[in-house]
Amino acid sequence: MIGVDEALSLVLDRARPGPQRTLPLRQAVGHVLAEDIACSLDSPPYDKSLVDGYAVQSSDCAAAGRVLRVLEQVTAGRVPQQRVTAGTATRIMTGAPIPGGADAVVMIERTALVPGGEEAVRIEMPVRPDQNIMRRGESMRVGQTVLRRGHALRAIETGLLAELGVSAVHVFSRPTVAVLATGDELVSCHEIPAAGQIRNSNGPLLEQLVVASGCPVRDLGVARDTEPELNQRIAEGLQDDVLLLSGGVSAGVLDLVPHVLKQRGAVEVFHQVQMRPGRPLWFGFVAGEGSDKLVFGLPGNPVSALVCFHLFVRPGLARLAGRAGEGLCRATAVMTRDYQHRSDRPTWHPGRAHEQDGAWRVEPLDWRGSADLRTLADANVLIQFAPGPRTIAAGQSVVVWLL
Ligand code: AMP
Ligand code: MG
Repeated sequence: MIGVDEALSLVLDRARPGPQRTLPLRQAVGHVLAEDIACSLDSPPYDKSLVDGYAVQSSDCAAAGRVLRVLEQVTAGRVPQQRVTAGTATRIMTGAPIPGGADAVVMIERTALVPGGEEAVRIEMPVRPDQNIMRRGESMRVGQTVLRRGHALRAIETGLLAELGVSAVHVFSRPTVAVLATGDELVSCHEIPAAGQIRNSNGPLLEQLVVASGCPVRDLGVARDTEPELNQRIAEGLQDDVLLLSGGVSAGVLDLVPHVLKQRGAVEVFHQVQMRPGRPLWFGFVAGEGSDKLVFGLPGNPVSALVCFHLFVRPGLARLAGRAGEGLCRATAVMTRDYQHRSDRPTWHPGRAHEQDGAWRVEPLDWRGSADLRTLADANVLIQFAPGPRTIAAGQSVVVWLL
């Protein structure tokens, strides 16, 4: 049986970024750049004021109390008409260009208008050169590469690209994902389960995990554990780039998924991973003309499906969408109590982490195993425990994966 690291690298090897497309800026969030973006301007495009105040010559106002004649007023969007010289100042608003001759701006709150005929202002503080000025090109310069291929676009990048005048971007397409739960015992959440039945948690769970990964998703509902039905529904799911199945990949008499996948032309890359929960995981692909379809046969128990999603599916989707293939963020945390770990497999155990005095602390939750999704509702991390029975003592450091 292969380990988690090997399984992940096999998934990432198969997950090649999909086709590229050009999207209008406002539709590009959640996509990954397929091009470098060069800077078409200096930002800011001119030396500008960072505050509302008075533009002055700093050498003229080295000591507090200097009174200056006000030349003019410049608001954002206007350009100064006059040069600031010794004994003068220009009233300037945030974002307006600095007038020639000035090398500092004094905040309006640190000045006082002097009563009298001609407009004059008293500077109530000593002034330093460059104070409250952002120089042309301080943020970025013409020709500089601002964003690189592979960069994931968020609202932040949308604002930046708008600043650069980029109204359409070349991005990687995101993979489309189909979700299909399998099991004779499953009914939908709208139904009352009869004897021996349970509701389908994995469909909605996986659908929302995919949504959170930023990929378009179709929930295909439930397939019964018969070869003809699985055949037909899997064929339907293979219309998408990625098919997420749940259930039917263990050793039970009705665990037909790997068998039917092979009938549909899927090639198995691995089946079973040395981990807990999630051991029965099946992964393979169906070779296609353009690109392969990836298939994950996730274990039926919801927590197993969840952990396998985070460890393998999520990085795989990220890679397909043009990113590096990153998984959950990890951190180090200190155990708040002793925990008796029993499994001979590497384990991802639900925990509740909180910050205290600058360090992360984590409480291992009292978890009933892979069918106990309830306890996961209290969790905000998965604690990674090394294999082998042993006690992890309070105060010991562990790696936690942030949910
Ligand atoms: P299986 O691998 O199909 O034998 O499923 C393992 C366990 O997970 C069984 O107890 C199933 O009832 C349960 N299970 C399978 N699919 C789902 C699902 N979609 N939602 C909730 N539990 C499930
Ligand atoms: Mg089943």
